[in-house]
Amino acid sequence: MREEIYLAPNANASELLKSLALHGRNCFNLRIVSAAELARIALMRCAVAVDEDFLSSKEETSFIFKAVNAIKENSGNSCYLKNPSYSDIREIKRAIRTLRSLVSCDNEANDKEDTFENEDSYISSRLLKGTFREKNEFLIGVYRKYKELLFAENKLDTVALIRKAIERCSHLEANIDFHTLKEYPLSPLEQALIEKLSGKKVNDLKTDLKTLFKLKDSPLNIKSFKNCYGAANEVETILDDIYSGKKLDECTVALASDSDYAQLFFDYALLYDIPVSFGCGIPIINSNPAKLLELYRKWASGGIFSPQALQNMLNSSVFNRSKLEELYPQKEENFSFGVLTEVLRGLRLTNDEEKNQTRQENFRKALADEEQEQNTLDDKSKDYQSLEKKKCCIPYLEILANELSLTPDEFIKKYAYIRKKSETESQRLLMSLDMVAQKMLCDELKLLKESGLDKNSDDLYKNALSLKVPLGASQSGHLHITGIDGALCAVRKNLYIAGLSASKYPGSPRQNYLILDNDLSQFGEEAEYLKANSIIEQKKNKLLNLVEIASSLKTDIFISFAGLNVSELKQENPSSLLYRLLRDCFGKELSAQALEKNIVKVKYFEPAISFSRKILEAYCEDRSIENSNNGKARDNTPKDKLDLSWALEKEYSPTALEKFFKCKRLFMFSKLLNLPEANEENIFEVIAATELGTLAHALMEQLANQKISEDKFLELAEKHFDRFLYSHPALIDHRVTTEKDQFLAMMTKAYQMDGNNRSKVILKEEDIRETHSTGIRLHGYPDRVEELEDGSVMVVDYKTSKKQSHKEDDIDTCLQILIYAYLLELHEHKVSEGEYRYLRLNKKIKCRYNEEIKKALEDRLNIFKQHLLKADFPDVISESKIDSTIDKDKISDACKYCKYRKICTPAQGDEDDE
Ligand code: SF4
Repeated sequence: MREEIYLAPNANASELLKSLALHGRNCFNLRIVSAAELARIALMRCAVAVDEDFLSSKEETSFIFKAVNAIKENSGNSCYLKNPSYSDIREIKRAIRTLRSLVSCDNEANDKEDTFENEDSYISSRLLKGTFREKNEFLIGVYRKYKELLFAENKLDTVALIRKAIERCSHLEANIDFHTLKEYPLSPLEQALIEKLSGKKVNDLKTDLKTLFKLKDSPLNIKSFKNCYGAANEVETILDDIYSGKKLDECTVALASDSDYAQLFFDYALLYDIPVSFGCGIPIINSNPAKLLELYRKWASGGIFSPQALQNMLNSSVFNRSKLEELYPQKEENFSFGVLTEVLRGLRLTNDEEKNQTRQENFRKALADEEQEQNTLDDKSKDYQSLEKKKCCIPYLEILANELSLTPDEFIKKYAYIRKKSETESQRLLMSLDMVAQKMLCDELKLLKESGLDKNSDDLYKNALSLKVPLGASQSGHLHITGIDGALCAVRKNLYIAGLSASKYPGSPRQNYLILDNDLSQFGEEAEYLKANSIIEQKKNKLLNLVEIASSLKTDIFISFAGLNVSELKQENPSSLLYRLLRDCFGKELSAQALEKNIVKVKYFEPAISFSRKILEAYCEDRSIENSNNGKARDNTPKDKLDLSWALEKEYSPTALEKFFKCKRLFMFSKLLNLPEANEENIFEVIAATELGTLAHALMEQLANQKISEDKFLELAEKHFDRFLYSHPALIDHRVTTEKDQFLAMMTKAYQMDGNNRSKVILKEEDIRETHSTGIRLHGYPDRVEELEDGSVMVVDYKTSKKQSHKEDDIDTCLQILIYAYLLELHEHKVSEGEYRYLRLNKKIKCRYNEEIKKALEDRLNIFKQHLLKADFPDVISESKIDSTIDKDKISDACKYCKYRKICTPAQGDEDDE
């Protein structure tokens, strides 16, 4: 029996064979092959040994990358592409492969014995006649370097394999019939291969898919043309039609534009649990491994290693935390995840093993130093406990540092959370998506790593994340979704052609920026098929062929397009091809207007695939849904106000009360709902204001009742600052000196301010808790309590800010210190005053504590209580409209810097307030 071999580059051979068998064509001894496969068959049958190792397409990219780098190194700044991106590399690879495929063995320059020399002289002689010489010289340079690399590593790429088969194989005389298909045009090199193996001229071999299917001409079998209300509506229309009586595996959807429609079909498949196979690929970013890589990119790209980005990655559901927890040691009593998170944030671990090692060593050094300083503390003190908790983090940090130093591919392989449930169709779809995507990403990242691309380059991740995941061949029970090309190989009983709008198909001609049409002209007629206009013509023919073949196979065809681009809210016209098909169906002489009458307009709510449509439809028609109460009368009594009695049981610090009086809603978000504040990190900051405050407070605590010289105190301050840097390495080194100088200058002022006082300190940073006569429970840590000469005490609070925000004897701004005074009074201290000490400004603000101010404090706490009881927390802007004493400037500042502004919608200010 004769063997039939069809050379069809880029055809999906297995789908095409399945389709042929489905339509009754005997596929025994029939092969559909690419040129590389044909070359392999020929070399094998002619017993030609291939000594070189084969270079896969992925490795080819890596070799091109190395070649481009070598050219860049040699030519420096004068290199044509100074900073080629990864997508440039892929384009260069494609361009070089295309150029080499234009050299068949009988080209006129084929006068050298060596194949590569022939190829080289043919390509360079023609390219150098092109308009943009610099670009073409660059391409020739990369090509030559690439060749050198191939020779040096004894590799054979696809083009060289085909060329070897042409050179070394003779005409295969066995019982083989060779064919080419007009739907899959050949390059000159591919033509040379099949001519050599068949012993015939390529025109004698040419046939088409219709002949392969053994079909006769038939009229077009298009059942409908539909104009849908946006792409999502179009997808619903198609699904609605399929689910009204058709079998899923008897339907193929051919997407004219797979970039957006594939995503929509994927989303609907998940939403309605539809079994689907995707020949055209789904954007990889839908998978968990890609989502993890995106988080990794945000953390690592540009070498920033933001602590927030690391935390987002480690806390994400796509990160398989259990893998990390398997490595963690047994938890010690003092271990706290909160402290570990804080330490991690400060330490800014990277993906570099050496850097991580240094940071850990520095952290250990800082702890040892702190421990030495604290060896006199009792084990119940706050500082002692905090140090113990930090020490417990060391083994965890070691593990994390090691794991974060894994290469990106190893990290994704180990830590991407693969969804493994397989009870429903959508679970199965997600599982295969995650598995395939993980492999694709790891291969891609590994290859790029081997090419020498910087692992922290954004370009690397962006390209890996732009991949598409082909999800399987068409299969029984599944709807098959593919492109126009793919549908040519997978025609079923029903064919839906979607997305046929003018802007999507066939598109407008675009030249390749590396091989322009003018360059292609230098290669003669054989390169015509690669020119921009020819590519558009080929796209048109593909669609017309698809409709013709499907009609001959008696397939029912449904054509649609989205008449509205809903994201840009603009009208879309149907593709010119849709008009052409309309004319073929309804008469060539009809005007465009007459033809449009045959396009069915689908209304927005028409597809009945989802119940929510019905609800929206009812809403638009002003109908309401009856609430079934099982015959019982509806209870219309208003519900009680929110019960916040528990809020009165809570203890409040002066800071919480300050928040309340600044904005009641802010207090509710922060202290009652415990909503986390938006973290607006500034990773370039050497030390944040709060951390600077903590350092200064700790030093002032040490100064209390101590005889210490200014020099010694500054030495201590410097030591504390350096210790902070050990566990919080700065991103920009040169900022450290300025920041440190400013800190030491502040501490000098602080020492002098304190030295002039030298009062006896009776309390420092101790927690005091009491209940106010209003019933409000209060607690707080005054920074310091000093004994005055008359035996009374003064509450001191240190401020490190650059701007003064307290006024003398003012209840509103001095609330914090007055609450401390009240608490101390209940602890039987005679309190006469409070003082804010601005360390940076060398300034003191006094606030007397007397009966009048105590009354004012009581009034404030009563207001607080009333709001808690009524659960009334208005935003500051609404309040200012009622209360004219509120300073308008302060309000706008409060909202501008509020950490909840993204979730809060305060009332708008009056127009004339502006
Ligand atoms: S945004 Fe303004 S109104 Fe809203 S919570 Fe913050 S400060 Fe209050």
